Amino acid sequence: MDFDTIVIGGGLSGLVAAAASAQKGQRVGVVSSGMGDMLTFTGCIDLLAYYPGESTRPGPAPDILLDQLAADNSEHPYALAGRQWIEDAIRFFKGLLPEWEYQGNLDRLIPLPTVMGTVKLTGIIPRSMSAGDLEEEGEMLVVGFQGLREFSAPSLAGNLAAAGSEHMQAEGVRGETITVDDISKCGGATNTALARRLEREDLLDSIVQQVRPLVGTASRIGFPAILGLTEDGPTREHLEGRLGVRIFEVPGLPPSIPGQRLFNHLHNALSRFNVRLMLGSRVMGVSLEDRQCRSIHVFRHGRTTEMCAHRFILATGGIRGGGLVAERSGLLEPLYGLPVCQPSKRGTWFRTCMFDPEGHPLDRSGVKANTNLQPVDAAGRVLIDNVRVCGRILAYQDPLREKSGGGVAVATGFKAGSLCADE
Ligand SMILES: Cc1cc2nc3c(=O)[nH]c(=O)nc-3n(C[C@H](O)[C@H](O)[C@H](O)COP(=O)(O)OP(=O)(O)OC[C@H]3O[C@@H](n4cnc5c(N)ncnc54)[C@H](O)[C@@H]3O)c2cc1C
Repeated sequence: MDFDTIVIGGGLSGLVAAAASAQKGQRVGVVSSGMGDMLTFTGCIDLLAYYPGESTRPGPAPDILLDQLAADNSEHPYALAGRQWIEDAIRFFKGLLPEWEYQGNLDRLIPLPTVMGTVKLTGIIPRSMSAGDLEEEGEMLVVGFQGLREFSAPSLAGNLAAAGSEHMQAEGVRGETITVDDISKCGGATNTALARRLEREDLLDSIVQQVRPLVGTASRIGFPAILGLTEDGPTREHLEGRLGVRIFEVPGLPPSIPGQRLFNHLHNALSRFNVRLMLGSRVMGVSLEDRQCRSIHVFRHGRTTEMCAHRFILATGGIRGGGLVAERSGLLEPLYGLPVCQPSKRGTWFRTCMFDPEGHPLDRSGVKANTNLQPVDAAGRVLIDNVRVCGRILAYQDPLREKSGGGVAVATGFKAGSLCADE
């Protein structure tokens, strides 16, 4: 047997599942074709901000909403995980990262400004974003770079001021754009290219010289979330030291530098637990016998090999991740052929308005599971005994509407990994 547990999918849920299993002494392998949504998400772990489903007003705090959600909807992944597991999962997740790297908990929604000038209500945030908390007092200056597409500091500040917000204590927000020669010469820059260059001191000198006269009465300065590709600390601390105010990153658009940093931290944690991470490897099929998965067939390095384990965790994500595939006949789960809960007809997948407060029925599609996170049929019968399911592939969640995606991935990943190890 190659492994005790193989995790299929190396997104947030899969990496947390692998760490949870491995920290209990299991031999764990992760097979993943990519990094999943971590390349696109903001780096903030949304816990739960909007519930019930049709609510357009945020709730008071995730823990209060969670109790309500679990009471109303016993099939939601949070209800399957259960309150104690969710709390333990958050503690475990933060413990996997360098100390103080992530902050926040179930007791408070943290309001952050976004690149669009809207307010994002989230749960657990990277340290690099903490000074952007809109409930903190103090004037805010937001600085963008000429040529960096997708980030206009003046629009951000204008939209934020115009929208106003019950969450906003900040005494005014100003937006300014500076010119960094390096970017202009390249005719524009991507997040990743600029983040790499911001690790260079000469570029930071130029930024400090231009920003210093703009600071005025601002007590904190926001930049695009590109302050260092591999680590946020040194670049941010350098700017704080020289400008004398707190510096924060504004959660932005893909590709996500904070998401890449989170991936690197989790990768380091998995290395400490001797987990074998096989990125760029795709599971093409599985071998089943007597309601057990015996092995998976993995395409890597140009050939297909068979890998065996006692247990498997399916963390392949939703439609974007590849865990669900949309065919003319409907949604399919391509690896195990698990039944997918979904709207009865294609014509009812979406509501007419993109931002309909009730969301889109398609988003709630996925694989049904029991409280042990085993896949079940409509009648609740376990379909494969040694497979557990976690993350975005689970049915009955609506992450974009509820603002719960990262939290569901962490909670169900942690529970799936821990249960596999405890068996
Ligand atoms: C644009 C966008 C922004 C978001 N922003 C936020 C946010 O700010 N905060 C938040 O909390 N949530 C956010 N979410 C939601 C959140 O990112 C996801 O719900 C969560 O990351 C899902 O994690 P996952 O591990 O379940 O799935 P995924 O991240 O989709 O990972 C699935 C993995 O499985 C792999 N895979 C699939 N099939 C196979 C196969 N056959 N063989 C091998 N590997 C396979 C994929 O390559 C992928 O790596 C956002 C989502 C989107 C789309």
